[in-house]
Amino acid sequence: MTASTLISYISLALGLQFLLVLAYALLRRRSLAPLPATAAKLPSLQPGAWSGLRAFRVARRVYEDAAQTQCSFYLEPVDGLALADYRPGQFLTFSLQPGAQAGAAARTVTRCYSLSDSPQPQQYRVTIKRVAAPAVPPGLPAGVASNYFHEHVRAGDTLQLRAPSGHFYLDTDSLTPVVLVAGGIGITPMLSMLRWCLQKQPQRVVHLYYGVRNSAEQAYKAELEEMAASLPPICLHVVYSKPLAQDRQGVDFQHRGHVDLALLQSTLARGEQQFYVCGPSAMMENLVPGLAQWGVASKDIHFEAFGPATVRLSPDASLPVAGDAQALPVAVTFRRSGRTLNWQGHQSSLLDFAEAHGIPVESGCRSGGCGSCVASVVSGAVDYASAPDFDLAPGQCLLCVGKPREALVLDL
Ligand SMILES: Cc1cc2nc3c(=O)[nH]c(=O)nc-3n(C[C@H](O)[C@H](O)[C@H](O)COP(=O)(O)OP(=O)(O)OC[C@H]3O[C@@H](n4cnc5c(N)ncnc54)[C@H](O)[C@@H]3O)c2cc1C
Repeated sequence: MTASTLISYISLALGLQFLLVLAYALLRRRSLAPLPATAAKLPSLQPGAWSGLRAFRVARRVYEDAAQTQCSFYLEPVDGLALADYRPGQFLTFSLQPGAQAGAAARTVTRCYSLSDSPQPQQYRVTIKRVAAPAVPPGLPAGVASNYFHEHVRAGDTLQLRAPSGHFYLDTDSLTPVVLVAGGIGITPMLSMLRWCLQKQPQRVVHLYYGVRNSAEQAYKAELEEMAASLPPICLHVVYSKPLAQDRQGVDFQHRGHVDLALLQSTLARGEQQFYVCGPSAMMENLVPGLAQWGVASKDIHFEAFGPATVRLSPDASLPVAGDAQALPVAVTFRRSGRTLNWQGHQSSLLDFAEAHGIPVESGCRSGGCGSCVASVVSGAVDYASAPDFDLAPGQCLLCVGKPREALVLDL
């Protein structure tokens, strides 16, 4: 072999090595792609968060209750790249087109679902409760997204997701005993917190209060009972309001009735504790202010509503919130729609106000969490009764929980 041939081989080998390193670096970059400047600052997003939508495949689905009203969906990224991290308690936002299934015009529906497992390297899990049509009042439809999931979403299907986000998450830096309080499907973020504690902080004391009607509706029954029996045990308080004939107190459930302040006071020795609460509005309205009255500091009361927020953690909740106190009417201009309308304070939010006047706005959770109704403020200012869950970039507002503070021009 001549010297020049040898040099050619070495150059070729070095070139190939360089290409391999470059390809690896590019792949890594895609998996941890830097977010746009605004999103990169958002504190609720975790390492690896992507911006916009990302395709996930349903790996499998599993019913979690005997009545088959709560179904878990395991999701894996179609691109095969790394998942974004998340904090136990955070949620995913789904962009769905349920109508496409029936061949109807595909309206986009945005919904949030809490991650119901502790962070796993390969997949996310959400658990979705089917929302049936209410018997009273008659005529109202069944839930669009939850029924779409239950009836149509199967293993192998692809769904579009925003990165995990949300401000309702476990304080993972603390070893303070934690009291998780769930009602119905509000168990999902609690299960994520619970599993995380068992794996990462086995010395931390964890109480779980979980209220459902009976064993048919209890999700994760075997899993919870196993956790209560394992070491270290969790302090499990399952509460049935309408036990079935076969449900045994002390075996299937610990308490009869509802999860309320009276139950906590009679079963929990108060000390330094962090409370996390998620459940139906009746439970939240009792517990969240109740805990504050019981002497729990507001920094130790964390709560999330799975719908329009009904409770506020403020001793002054009866006082008018910002945005109620301004001189009415206030002019609100929807610039792209070419409409200027008078805000009279009748609607609870700018989203309701826009919809009442036929101005189309995309919306999702309607509670300040998912960011679907973000709008750019051209001039003026927007007030919120409490800080929205969604991290807003400068110059943006959230219509579903915002009210105009003054004359407002929106880029809508
Ligand atoms: C942060 C967050 C996390 C969440 N996590 C979970 C979770 O882990 N699991 C879970 O199951 N859910 C969760 N949710 C709730 C979830 O996002 C959806 O709200 C829920 O699945 C219902 O959506 P849907 O489309 O099925 O019902 P929708 O179609 O939104 O209907 C909801 C209700 O409104 C009624 N309704 C519909 N139209 C009208 C009308 N015109 N007038 C009056 N009433 C009407 C329906 O009958 C139904 O009872 C979460 C929500 C948030 C905000």
